[in-house]
Amino acid sequence: MRREPLIIGAGPAGCAAAITLARAGCHPVLIERASGPADKVCGDFLSADTIGRLRGFGVDPAALGGSVIGRVRLIHRDRVAEAALPFPALGLSRRVLDDALLRQASQAGAKVLAGRTVRHLTREFGAWSVEADNTPPMVADAVFLATGKHDLRDVPRPRSDHDAVGMKMYFILSPAAARRLGDATELTLFPGGYAGLQAAEDGRAVLCVAVRRAAFQGYGGGWTGLLAAIGRTSGRFPEMLAGAIPLLPRPLAVAGIPYGYQVRSAPDGLFRLGDQAAVIPSLTGDGMAIALHSGQAAARAWLEGAGAATYHRALNRTLAPQMGLARGLHSAMMDGLAQGAVVQAARLFPGLLRQAARHTRLRRVRPCGFRTRQ
Ligand SMILES: Cc1cc2nc3c(=O)[nH]c(=O)nc-3n(C[C@H](O)[C@H](O)[C@H](O)COP(=O)(O)OP(=O)(O)OC[C@H]3O[C@@H](n4cnc5c(N)ncnc54)[C@H](O)[C@@H]3O)c2cc1C
Repeated sequence: MRREPLIIGAGPAGCAAAITLARAGCHPVLIERASGPADKVCGDFLSADTIGRLRGFGVDPAALGGSVIGRVRLIHRDRVAEAALPFPALGLSRRVLDDALLRQASQAGAKVLAGRTVRHLTREFGAWSVEADNTPPMVADAVFLATGKHDLRDVPRPRSDHDAVGMKMYFILSPAAARRLGDATELTLFPGGYAGLQAAEDGRAVLCVAVRRAAFQGYGGGWTGLLAAIGRTSGRFPEMLAGAIPLLPRPLAVAGIPYGYQVRSAPDGLFRLGDQAAVIPSLTGDGMAIALHSGQAAARAWLEGAGAATYHRALNRTLAPQMGLARGLHSAMMDGLAQGAVVQAARLFPGLLRQAARHTRLRRVRPCGFRTRQ
């Protein structure tokens, strides 16, 4: 008899796996280091696809207060390109969303161990051994690794010189800036990065920045230095933040984001989910769709008796088209020389923005198909 799988990390990927397994009659253990709802570095953009997948897991982001996002705006210096999104979207904080998903996982039958950080994940005698804080050691045949942006020391993702830094802050914007922002997700390009601003629930706005590590270090001064650097590039940016009230005591930050990474192989019984399997550039706002899909796909693979390698191969095939386009767009949007050309092209042909938004979505795949046994 197979032992129940262990899931490490209760973001969208881990929760999707837990709900799928629990709905199939399993009792997976879901280990999460946060002891309660927490904010995360993320632009909080939910595409129509993400919204549909969340509803399938019993979470309705509109009912949770998600703010309607209907337009995309691209800004470089004094140039602005704008288009309607080709699909309806929402802005909802991860604190609210992830908490709702975790509750669904628990109600479905997953055993949730919150407030426990996993320290070690090692393979011994054909099984996985997991060591977490305040918990006796656990052993499993299969582990679903869903720790997102955070690597476990024993099974790290590769590092590169192109790794990026992500930072985030919530604000109450001035009434004039909130009107100006409207229902758009607004992307301001600056040398080495881009900053996304959009509405979230309860009248808040979320500002989330992705910037190459070298550029971030070059700007100096941490968050303040970064905002000042963006403001030197775009006059609109400081106008949008004038009089804004920050809502967190300090910005959230994450370093070493390996944009474009896709896992090529993993040891037996280790299913990498979400950001542990693939890191799509943030400008697509599709990371959560991938996380939800990968969690569900890995759980289905395990239920059907397929191995981790089969699951990873299928995931990579599904992600290939959107990843290719997203990597290209990401490089152009981070590169100071190409940024102006991108925005100018989008101004002349607004249909390009809609096409880019459409084609950086996760491909629809048939829900089953892991018949190949290893
Ligand atoms: C700057 C930026 C902006 C983004 N904007 C968007 C966006 O607007 N829309 C979108 O769809 N995607 C966006 N993304 C991507 C999205 O945030 C991720 O793809 C998504 O969160 C991945 O989900 P996940 O479940 O894999 O990981 P996460 O959401 O990161 O969840 C991982 C979980 O694991 C837990 N954990 C970590 N380590 C341990 C441990 N050792 N033990 C136990 N638990 C642990 C964490 O506490 C966390 O709850 C953005 C990413 C970045 C960097």
